[in-house]
Amino acid sequence: MYNARAYSAASATSPLASTTVARRDPTEHDVQIEILFCGICHSDLHQVRSEWSGIRTVYPCVPGHEIVGRVTGVGPAVTKFKPGDIAAVGCMVDSDGTCPECRAGLEQFCPNMVLTYNSPDKHLGGVTYGGYSDSVVVDERFVLRVPSNLNLAGAAPLLCAGITTYSPVRRWGVTKGRKVGVVGLGGLGHMGVKFAHALGAHVVVFTHSLNKKEDAFRFGADEVVVSRNADEMKKHTGSFDFILDTVSAEHDINAYIQLLRRDGNITLVGAPGKPLAVSAFGLLLGRRNLSGSLIGGIPETQEMLDFCGAHHIIADVEIIPIQKVNEAYERLLKSDVKYRFSIDMASLKSE
Ligand code: NAP
Ligand code: ZN
Repeated sequence: MYNARAYSAASATSPLASTTVARRDPTEHDVQIEILFCGICHSDLHQVRSEWSGIRTVYPCVPGHEIVGRVTGVGPAVTKFKPGDIAAVGCMVDSDGTCPECRAGLEQFCPNMVLTYNSPDKHLGGVTYGGYSDSVVVDERFVLRVPSNLNLAGAAPLLCAGITTYSPVRRWGVTKGRKVGVVGLGGLGHMGVKFAHALGAHVVVFTHSLNKKEDAFRFGADEVVVSRNADEMKKHTGSFDFILDTVSAEHDINAYIQLLRRDGNITLVGAPGKPLAVSAFGLLLGRRNLSGSLIGGIPETQEMLDFCGAHHIIADVEIIPIQKVNEAYERLLKSDVKYRFSIDMASLKSE
């Protein structure tokens, strides 16, 4: 066991502050990683502030599940990685490996899945601690390869924002000839636009921020709609094959359901703390579908990273030192992020 530097929250109302956490020495199948960059996901904020009623946050909480780093040690049975390799870790660090979900490569639905933070830690007791840290030890089954052409600060957000948008976009057949909407241009949303564009779809961005139009076009949007403008919204009634809703706060989802064509699908990946009200008639008329999606399994996460390597896709990031993390959280709440904060973990050395 050794101590790693980290940033943690002591309660739902405390700012994140410097601390140390215990990490296990690598066991047989473990990879030890020096963390270079970790993205800030809005889920980190929801979790740290205990905004999700169904999930209890255990404090101290070290968030972070968009991890990229360099391998510093491996257990004797590890075959995929060696010291010096670049490696990545997303939202999960373990699962039972035997259930039907795991066998289908959908570890995110395994009843024994262990999240990167705030899950019971079977090795050390207590809970797992995430990537706002200088080091982590993870079973090699949950460690991913990063294509060598990708910038590391921009690659870190692929481990959550990337896979969470790539998975539903693939599942619902986004391709050339399809009209696709992306609601909310934040960390997830801007990745959704990049993927849908790379797959050849006609992409429409819905934003409530007037100042994001130019960026949306740069990411590959064909049209941008300011969602507060009822006339602009109306023009798209009944026309979408697929809409990806990435909004982190309460909003009127019925306004988007109406924009789907017959049999169209709207998928929620955004996870607001409070339930959304859904009008039955919006779904009945046009036999429309409302569904959800949770990150993605390990095989699909590697597929997504390889796709990003082939298409030169990374997140647009603002690199910050860890000391700015609390300020970054306040900016997330104001939708003031372009378009993901990526923490340079070298900044932890000065703590
Ligand atoms: P983010 O960077 O903060 O982006 C959220 C975007 O939603 C904002 O940029 C804003 O876009 C829009 N928005 C925020 N407040 C709004 C409001 N009051 N009304 C209308 N639009 C609003 O967050 P993120 O990291 O992308 O995460 C988005 C959500 O996905 C979070 O709830 C997060 O927990 C969840 N999530 C889910 C999964 C999963 O597996 N399903 C994985 C990761 C994250 P505009 O400024 O363009 O309007
Ligand atoms: Zn996330």
